[in-house]
Amino acid sequence: MAKWVYMFSEGDMTMRNLLGGKGANLAEMTSIGLPVPQGFTITTEACTQYYEDGRKINDEIMAQVMEGVKKMEEINGKKFGDLQNPLLVSVRSGARASMPGMMDTILNLGLNDEVVAAMIAGNPDPKFERFVYDSYRRFIQMFSDVVMEVGKKYFEQLIDQMKAEKNVKFDVELTAADLKKLAEQFKAEYKKQLGEDFPSDPVQQLKLAIEAVFRSWDNPRANVYRRDNDIPYSWGTAVNVMPMVFGNLNDESGTGVAFTRDPATGEKKLMGEFLINAQGEDVVAGVRTPMPIAQMEKEFPDAYADFIKVCDILENHYHDMQDMEFTVENKKLFMLQCRNGKRTAQAALKIACDLVDEGHKTEAEAVAMIDPRNLDTLLHPQFDAKALKAATPLGKGLGASPGAACGKVVFTAEDAEEWGARGEKVVLVRLETSPEDITGMKAAQGILTVRGGMTSHAAVVARGMGTCCVSGCGDINMDEENKKFTLAGKEFHEGDYISIDGSTGNIYEGEIPTVDASIAGEFGRIMAWADKYRRLKVRTNADTPRDAKKARELGAEGIGLCRTEHMFFEEDRIAAFREMICADTVEERVAALDKILPYQQGDFEQLYEALEGCPVVIRFLDPPLHEFVPTDEEDIKKLAAAQGKSVESIKALIASLHEFNPMMGHRGCRLAVTYPEIAVMQTKAVIRAAINVQKAHPEWKIDPEIMIPLVGEVKELKYVKKFVVETADAEIAAAGIDMKYQVGTMIEIPRAALTADEIAKEADFFCFGTNDLTQMTYGFSRDDAGKFLSAYYDAKILENDPFAKLDQVGVGKLMKMAMELGKPVNPALTVGICGEHGGDPSSVEFCHKIGLDYVSCSPFRVPVARLAAAQAAIAEGVK
Ligand code: PEP
Ligand code: MG
Repeated sequence: MAKWVYMFSEGDMTMRNLLGGKGANLAEMTSIGLPVPQGFTITTEACTQYYEDGRKINDEIMAQVMEGVKKMEEINGKKFGDLQNPLLVSVRSGARASMPGMMDTILNLGLNDEVVAAMIAGNPDPKFERFVYDSYRRFIQMFSDVVMEVGKKYFEQLIDQMKAEKNVKFDVELTAADLKKLAEQFKAEYKKQLGEDFPSDPVQQLKLAIEAVFRSWDNPRANVYRRDNDIPYSWGTAVNVMPMVFGNLNDESGTGVAFTRDPATGEKKLMGEFLINAQGEDVVAGVRTPMPIAQMEKEFPDAYADFIKVCDILENHYHDMQDMEFTVENKKLFMLQCRNGKRTAQAALKIACDLVDEGHKTEAEAVAMIDPRNLDTLLHPQFDAKALKAATPLGKGLGASPGAACGKVVFTAEDAEEWGARGEKVVLVRLETSPEDITGMKAAQGILTVRGGMTSHAAVVARGMGTCCVSGCGDINMDEENKKFTLAGKEFHEGDYISIDGSTGNIYEGEIPTVDASIAGEFGRIMAWADKYRRLKVRTNADTPRDAKKARELGAEGIGLCRTEHMFFEEDRIAAFREMICADTVEERVAALDKILPYQQGDFEQLYEALEGCPVVIRFLDPPLHEFVPTDEEDIKKLAAAQGKSVESIKALIASLHEFNPMMGHRGCRLAVTYPEIAVMQTKAVIRAAINVQKAHPEWKIDPEIMIPLVGEVKELKYVKKFVVETADAEIAAAGIDMKYQVGTMIEIPRAALTADEIAKEADFFCFGTNDLTQMTYGFSRDDAGKFLSAYYDAKILENDPFAKLDQVGVGKLMKMAMELGKPVNPALTVGICGEHGGDPSSVEFCHKIGLDYVSCSPFRVPVARLAAAQAAIAEGVK
């Protein structure tokens, strides 16, 4: 029989896959003697089984749960549903990878009318009565919301009504009698909504709660979070059942969340928040603004001293920054959770370096602990320093997630998404955020909330996404309903510009320009370590000298793809290019190409200059020609006049370029097959540029690499290559210089991968164009797939966008095949990738594994690729 349930005393931190992160760490804390209320974990395998059984907990699992309950009762000397000594529990999710706020939690489970009455009868303190009713109404509300999906709002309305009636501002001001009445109202609401009584049997409550946590693995926000964070659906979540300790018992109790180092900056100092007389969700949900952790020392000196000791023990044990949840009940400390804390990219780098300096980690371990996706945020814009100096903040909140954001104010997640989709930059302003807001938060440049601390949902999620966030600006007077707020006497409406600084927490009226981030310090140190370990080279996709320079700054070791068509979109060039398209004869076309040649040559010279002798791959013209012809009547007239042709003939030409499937149409090497003179011109431009730069810099070795796109048949390559070689050899001979060059091809059509042995005979290098290869392997249009992919996610057909994260099973198989066919035929063949996947960490890892020589990605992703490449090598045991 499978073991579905583990007591905390039966596990340890190595069992993360089975027990989830929370369960494994609760077990580990138990094993090292920390004060953890003793309960049990239901495994992630039980979650998978729940789904296999048609979303049901089978009898075998439930029987083991009940054994777990029995053991828990014995250990704690309390009993489920007992009127003398009732056991109340929390039921909490915990997947392998932490997913803060994405899944469900139920507290105070085990309460019912009899238990409540018995508890009160057993303790004459009126404060205790208040506590019991406070716990009861929380439980009914959470259970209804999370387990029965009634919706929080009905209960919140009742609380607001009660507060208004009693003329108080905070929940803590409500009396025992008020809360008792609320609990009654909540139960009545439950019955009204669901047509049945609130379940009073603790075992039934428990079963329903466990099911709810399993179910929450599949809720929409968890699905979005998983997609963003590369967490497979198949992992499932564990469920932790733990005896309650009560932070809301009295004023000698409280609850808090803390980090052993600052999750925003990485500074080595305890950071956290604490609330007296409260339960965990009050801190995280941001309903009350908590006090800084240091203040806990004054309120609860003994528990604070114990907590500091625990922090030390945990850091020395896990050798990483810890994020902890704890509760103080009657001045005694209990640990409810610990995990390696989420952190900003800046903090991650600092912490990794500090951990090496403190002897906790080796350099390789430090490199391995940085999430490459996070690096993006370091490269994000900051406010222009001068403009910032001139600006006066209107208000200030907490700098919850660094970076600068500027955009139009929107008040709902839906609006953020909608406005974002039409290209508007927005700042989402909310009273507080909840996990349902995640897609809106993603669409926004920045997030501003009125309530909530550094550990509130908005702060944690924004940090994870690398989105600028200012939280807890209590000075804002919010009117969400009418889509407006006032701050420092200024009224903001939907659509007004606002600027926020996620590092300082400052809020500004209007637009403040932003500038690129500059990277220094720990970034360089980590990158230098990463470069020691990686085997893959990292190049960049750059079409302009500006991009190329940026990429060099960020560590690119060459250009892996220069899309030459991007050089034609500029005003002065497009005219010559259009002339080329309109040509009726070869002579006309050559004359037009002669005009383009100097532009191209100039561009290529600048690229070679920027790359200082590093390799540069120049890809010949790829896109369908219709992309260059005008659509506007005026522009058509202008073109006709310039060409000395009739408007009708130009229109007829444009119509003739129309294709039903342009991505599979007259593009790529097919253009060069029809018009070899284009390839001839481009070859001249490349070789002449290379010769000029070589002459100017004899210390560099310029070795031009010419790449022919969209080859599916070796004869296509051979045909185009003949023109390239003839032209290049003639240019080199005429210059009297000794220069080598390479002619390679993209592998981006499945047939090219399937016949890579043939193609390798003619190619000096391969470069996988995984954008087209994905398009043609799946048969998904790369420009239109977005329309239906979300249905594919919902139906669990796909977990990720295959255009962002390489499909290793299908597209990857073709890549592997091309490597295995090509390399033996041409052992000198170098192989790279220049599709978008070249900057995606898991795809980079795959490229490492199948033996590519380099990855090429957009300039800002170069550091991500360098780190991912190092991690792939380290994971393989490279020291
Ligand atoms: C590709 O297809 O992956 C590629 C890099 O080329 P493009 O995106 O220009 O088609
Ligand atoms: Mg392509």
